[in-house]
Amino acid sequence: NGESGSEVTADFLLRTGRVVDMSRPKYPRHIEFCSEEARLKTFQNWPSYALLTPKELANAGLFFTGIDDQVKCFCCGGKLMNWEPSDRAWIEHSKHFPDCLFVLGRDVGNVALAS
Ligand SMILES: [Zn+2]
Repeated sequence: NGESGSEVTADFLLRTGRVVDMSRPKYPRHIEFCSEEARLKTFQNWPSYALLTPKELANAGLFFTGIDDQVKCFCCGGKLMNWEPSDRAWIEHSKHFPDCLFVLGRDVGNVALAS
């Protein structure tokens, strides 16, 4: 017969309420940058005019997007750019993305650099 199993699966998921789970935002957004070391490596072409150090940005969960001085959070996916001399990575991150689970100190799989 031509009946496919996928319909049965979808119906099962609906009935068990798992569809609701799947609509939740997925964190971290960029699982490949959970590691601070992996984030640090993205700063190879970090522009010389950029005032913040890759170390500080990577520590705050941010990796370089390769565009201007734009960085992105591995957890919330939020973008930050146009850094000012007085900016601090953690403060800007929490100011613009207060709901970020990494900012809130949740366990989102961050792997800190061994120091
Ligand atoms: Zn974030």
